[in-house]
Amino acid sequence: MSITIHPSVDKGMTPAADNFSGGTLRCKCSSNPVEVSVSSQCAHNHVCGCTMCWKPEGAMFAQIAVVPRDSVKVTQNEDRLKVVNESAAIKRHACSECGAHMYGRIEDSNHPFHGLDFIHTELSDEDGWEPPQFAAFVSSIIESGTNPDKMGEIRRHLHDQGLEPYDCLSPTLMDVIATHTAKQKGVL
Ligand SMILES: [Zn+2]
Ligand SMILES: [Zn+2]
Repeated sequence: MSITIHPSVDKGMTPAADNFSGGTLRCKCSSNPVEVSVSSQCAHNHVCGCTMCWKPEGAMFAQIAVVPRDSVKVTQNEDRLKVVNESAAIKRHACSECGAHMYGRIEDSNHPFHGLDFIHTELSDEDGWEPPQFAAFVSSIIESGTNPDKMGEIRRHLHDQGLEPYDCLSPTLMDVIATHTAKQKGVL
């Protein structure tokens, strides 16, 4: 069986470009797209198996990264953006016509990732973004209909692509969350 993860991974990942400073994200509308300018390289790019991240048609995983919130500006058709789920911690601003998520923002200043926006770098034509580094929430692809019997093969494939599979976030990001919680509790 040939396993397809995400178009950006399946076509072969390209390394991050030196001194890369961002690009323009465009939604999937064929004319007059929503445009978001990002003036920063991304960090912690990864593929995500959760059911809330936006995925391109047919993809098993989403591809999602973070950038400083100050580097994100909506430059075209902001009026078409709608928050997908107002009660979620991450407010995912999506094009109300094509459904592409243009950026996800955390408004709760106590959240460990406050100050970072979530973006899908494949919505930009520029080359040089940091490629995915790992695979998050891998078990959750079952919730989207993936046969549980395929999980071993899928995890092996991710590992072979250099995308270590995790069933939550990567150890680095889980440590960031735990450190934030410990500091809030005053134990660190
Ligand atoms: Zn659109
Ligand atoms: Zn996700």
